[in-house]
Amino acid sequence: MENTGHFFVFEGIDGSGKSTQIHLLKEHIEAQGVRCMETKEPTDGPVGSLVHQCMTGRTSADEFTIATLFAADRLDHLLNETDGLCGKISQGISVISDRFVFSNYAYQGVLLPMDWLAQLNSQATKLLRPDYHIFVDVAPEVCMERMATGRFHTERYETTERLTQVRERYLELFRQFEDEENILIIDGNRPVEVIAEDIWNQVSHLYE
Ligand code: ADP
Repeated sequence: MENTGHFFVFEGIDGSGKSTQIHLLKEHIEAQGVRCMETKEPTDGPVGSLVHQCMTGRTSADEFTIATLFAADRLDHLLNETDGLCGKISQGISVISDRFVFSNYAYQGVLLPMDWLAQLNSQATKLLRPDYHIFVDVAPEVCMERMATGRFHTERYETTERLTQVRERYLELFRQFEDEENILIIDGNRPVEVIAEDIWNQVSHLYE
């Protein structure tokens, strides 16, 4: 077994089932005797809490400012001395993150220039490259229904129209990056366990 951990990123619109699948992938990895941690963006750190405030409308800011905060939170997520992901991975811990750079590109890319966003995230993409970006694909209408039954608040980007735009943007990005990044597009409309097995079948070779 090699000494560095693997890095998985789950992408998808809210309510697509990312956190459900992250939990199940972590169980699979731990069953191999490998240490694994779950994490998410925006983080619960100091910059991440500013992002959360913008998302819930508690603080208002323009889209450029929000995108910059997302990118700053990501760098802190990777590099902070307490629990930065680069350090964890170098200790042999596998990391699964709920969202990473493609979220910035998909959500803010609808409104902001892609070149600027790519430049803003260039340091993060150099520091840590995901072994796999796993996109859980579910129709926006289904995600809105799932969220309506499970959550009490609606965040900045959660309308069917907006989620439809974001999903299309994700799919466009994956076509654009298919030669550079390992991207798995997973049908998230199936039962939870079936999806989890599909994902594990595609990534388990990293632990053989
Ligand atoms: P996300 O992390 O992408 O926002 P969650 O994993 O929190 O999504 O799932 C959103 C809701 O949908 C939860 O109530 C969860 O139990 C449910 N859910 C997750 N996966 C499925 C699935 N494959 N089929 C039906 N419901 C699901």
